[in-house]
Formats: sequence, structure tokens, C-alpha cells
Amino acid sequence: MQIHWYPGHMHKAQRKIREVFHQVDVMIEVLDARLPLSSRNTLLAEIRGTKPCLMVLNKTDLADSSVTKKWLAWYNAQEGVTAYATHNGERKRLQDIPQLCRDMVPRRGIPGKPVRALIAGIPNVGKSTLINSLAGRKVAHTGNEPAVTKNQQKVDAGKYFQLLDTPGIMQPSPGDVLAGYRLATSGAIRSTAMEYEEVALFAIDYLLQRYRGALAKRYGISEDSDDAAQILPAIAERRGCIRDGELDLHKASEIVLNEFRAGKLGRITLEEPQRELPYRLLPPEP
Ligand code: GDP
Repeated sequence: MQIHWYPGHMHKAQRKIREVFHQVDVMIEVLDARLPLSSRNTLLAEIRGTKPCLMVLNKTDLADSSVTKKWLAWYNAQEGVTAYATHNGERKRLQDIPQLCRDMVPRRGIPGKPVRALIAGIPNVGKSTLINSLAGRKVAHTGNEPAVTKNQQKVDAGKYFQLLDTPGIMQPSPGDVLAGYRLATSGAIRSTAMEYEEVALFAIDYLLQRYRGALAKRYGISEDSDDAAQILPAIAERRGCIRDGELDLHKASEIVLNEFRAGKLGRITLEEPQRELPYRLLPPEP
């Protein structure tokens, strides 16, 4: 599994964000709380430089809350970063965001000088949904959208707080193999048909290690099962995935991944700070 990465596209996205960034006081970087490291694009930190960042760990309704707490602590300890965890069902809590941004930019957030924020992140983490919730109306289209444009509008959202109306879209950082599998499991990057089965096997293997009970309960497999390559055909059999008289592993893979993404296996996080960081070129855990 490789992250399909086109340097040309990345360069263009980055340039577009830089073009508007002089009008921005705070970057709101949206991450997927199920994979708060792999869903990050490290170039965004480079683009924002010394400007503050509100790191929003979104989709917490799908993530393991005990692990989300650890990630919040980890991000909050980073220079210039305030971390905040939420999901699109928490309309009331979203109203904290303007104030959190104002706290980070003391000289703005006053009459005539609103705090100006840009929402950025990789595709599908919930940027447009967040913009629309904060604006209180539909200003950004959810789904695929071109990256920021020069003449985009500023939208008032809360007292003395403005948002650019289209998000800054960056592809995931070209990461390691594990990051690629996690992004594919979450649906953030598309897999080809060939890779689908591989991604499902990765997801089952991870669930066996960390959330075995949830896997066993959902698919009625024995808690002793230990081999993803045997579990996938067992799921195909139980769910009646048969094609031309044979077990259809592709169909079974689709079922596992779609059910994971919809939260039907419960709240699951795919990476944890204490497990990841020894292997990554990132600042040490505080
Ligand atoms: P963008 O590509 O980053 O702008 O992401 P969108 O706002 O278009 O959201 C992508 C998908 O994720 C949509 O189907 C949203 O409904 C869904 N989504 C957004 N926020 C959340 C959330 O907090 N929880 C869940 N479960 N789904 C969300």
C-alpha cells in the first residue's frame, strides 16, 4: 500500500494556501481522530510558521475516547498548538472554536479586527462540514472541492471571528506503509480493487490486536481466531458473499471496511501516541 502522491499537485495546493495565508491569523487544521498522526499533512505546519494552530481532532464519534484524550495531551504540548476534539453532532461545543482562536491571537478578536481563520486538512476529514457549522449556513460544499482560491470570501462566524469560505486541501503526507493502510482503512484515500482485500486484512489484523472483542462480536467469530487470512473467508461465509460458487473475498472486504467506517464495530482508533512516536520523525512525547 502506497500513498499515491503527486509532487506537482502537492506543490500547487501548497502554493494556493500560501497565497491566501497572509490574510490569516490562525490555521485550523482538521484531523481524523481515528488517525491523528497519519491524517496530518506536515507541510501545513511549515506553511503556518509561527502563526498559531487550532488542531481539531474531528469525528470523535467514531474514535476510541480514551485514545483521543492521549492525542489531545500530545498535541496540546506542541509549540503554538491548541488541540480540540469534537464531531459534527456536537453543534453546541463547536461554538467554543471562535473563542479558542481568539485566545491564541490576543491583538485581534476585537471590534474592527476579527480573528481570521483558514480551515485546512486532508480530504474527507470534515473541513467543509465544520465551516458550514461555524458559519451557521451552507457556504462550503461537502465532498470534493478545489483547494483555496485567491478571491475567496470571508464569512462571519461568531463574534469578531471570520473564516475563509473554502478549505485549504492538502493530500496526506507521503508517509510510511502503515500510514497508507490506516488512511485507506478510514476511507481517506481510495484503494484500487486489488488493494481492497489487502486493506481489509490490515484492518482485521489491527482489530485482532487491539479490539478483538468488537471484531468477534460483529462477525460472530471465535475470540481465539488469530489469523486475518482465515477470518476474512469466515466473514464472507457468514455474510453469504458468494460469487460463481466461490467465496467472494472482495465483497467481504467491502463489508468490513464500510462497517468500520460507519462505526458499526464501535469506536476505534487506528493509532496511539505511545506506539507511534518512537518510529516517527516527530517531537518526543511530553
Ligand atoms: P472535507 O473533504 O474535509 O471537506 O470533508 P466533508 O466535510 O465533506 O466530510 C466528509 C464526510 O465526513 C461527509 O460524509 C461528512 O458527513 C462526514 N463527517 C464530517 N464530520 C464528521 C464527524 O464529526 N463524524 C462523522 N461520523 N462523520 C463526519
